Amino acid sequence: MYLVTAKPGNFGAHDILACKSCHGEMMLTRRSPHPQLGSDFEEQRFTCRQCGHEATRSVDAQGKPSPEAA
Ligand SMILES: [Zn+2]
Repeated sequence: MYLVTAKPGNFGAHDILACKSCHGEMMLTRRSPHPQLGSDFEEQRFTCRQCGHEATRSVDAQGKPSPEAA
């Protein structure tokens, strides 16, 4: 029996990251297929709710950060 906390294939879409500027919550605001790594990976943009700082990351279908592109 498995304890499932996140469905595979959601690309970590419900992740909340910590803002590097103000340590506020960064929410996912844009998702797109990764331009180099293809449809198995997503490029995601996060925007801070407090200061508007933006950051992008590349993740696989399990929401794990891609080692190829930071
Ligand atoms: Zn911030």
